Amino acid sequence: MNVPMLDLKAQYGPLREKIRSAMDEVCDAQYFILGPTVTAFEAETAAYCGSAEAVGVSSGSDALIISLMALGIGPGDAVITTPFTFFATVGAIERCGATPVFADIDPVTFNINPSAIAELLAHWPDRFAGLTPRAIIPVHLYGQCADMDAIMGLAKQHDLAVIEDGAQAIGSEYPSVDGPRRAGSMGTTGCFSFFPSKNLGGFGDGGLVTTQNAELAERLRQMRNHGMNPRYYHKMVGGNFRLDALQAAVLSVKLRHLDDWHAGRRSNAAYYTSAFADTPVETPAMVYADSSVDQPHIFNQFIIRVPKRDAVKAHLVAEGIGCDIYYPLSLHQQECFAGLGYSAGDFPEAERAAGEVLALPIYPELTDDMQAHVVQSVLAAI
Ligand SMILES: *Cc1c(COP(=O)(O)O)cnc(C)c1O
Repeated sequence: MNVPMLDLKAQYGPLREKIRSAMDEVCDAQYFILGPTVTAFEAETAAYCGSAEAVGVSSGSDALIISLMALGIGPGDAVITTPFTFFATVGAIERCGATPVFADIDPVTFNINPSAIAELLAHWPDRFAGLTPRAIIPVHLYGQCADMDAIMGLAKQHDLAVIEDGAQAIGSEYPSVDGPRRAGSMGTTGCFSFFPSKNLGGFGDGGLVTTQNAELAERLRQMRNHGMNPRYYHKMVGGNFRLDALQAAVLSVKLRHLDDWHAGRRSNAAYYTSAFADTPVETPAMVYADSSVDQPHIFNQFIIRVPKRDAVKAHLVAEGIGCDIYYPLSLHQQECFAGLGYSAGDFPEAERAAGEVLALPIYPELTDDMQAHVVQSVLAAI
């Protein structure tokens, strides 16, 4: 039995007519750039994320870049983030001319460890003289929020902005001191991606920035359109970071199904978790599951840790099972970041994770038979 890592055709089938008619409306209107379809989608996603404002942009990567640009972060500034994330998080910091400063992860959640951030800030001038810390980018990796209360506390204490990288976590909830809050509603901005493999995926690239700050939202809206306001008058240099109306039309249809898909992923996660209990396979911890939150994890990825990970992966691939490694090399060890001066051993938990993690298929349309086959194959491999 073949089990793909992701089966987008299975998701598209039942929605085909609705999506095609939404796309047809855009074609009939011939209004392709921003406009009413994008504005409507922004209002829906702002409400969904529990944020006052949402600004549709061209990708998750651009959501990060435009957030940094709108906050005026650039050369001489430092941005604290995790070394264990998709490249774009750190690429955005470099693209703005700022300097990424890494803090190691919590081995249970794989998210940035607030005590590592506190440690950095406590000894800042010794190590980073000449750099001003301006922001923290926590990543809600795999679909579970980073420890935002602790991060927001540190940010407040040190006057830092917080840019949530929620690309893998739209709708994921965190039990904050103020009650349950969704990813992207807590920081200065929240960044989302509609890359097709995310839980809310478009028919191409797309992204979103959320914020509770109306003034910042206005700045983001101008910046995504070359800093233009009014037309052909430019008070600032932005870029072309616009979301297409066709993507917004598709995403609006899909948004109505998102919570059902999240629930399907959580139910598949529960299946794996009980099937791997009392085996050497380490399954992910849902650290917020005991509190009042409805969506403690959205499982964009289901990540196990296994001994001899590469051999297990090879076995699964040979059995026709899709699986992948997110991510095989911590970012402080990437060739392009050699100039930052880090070396092996600097972030032991990120490095250990890079050697042990394996993502199994978790998409909502997976059947019990398929999951049973995945479990059998993993157990046979070890
Ligand atoms: C996917 C992703 C991004 C980038 O999103 P794109 O839309 O592909 O540019 C950024 N950060 C994280 C953590 C991601 O998973």
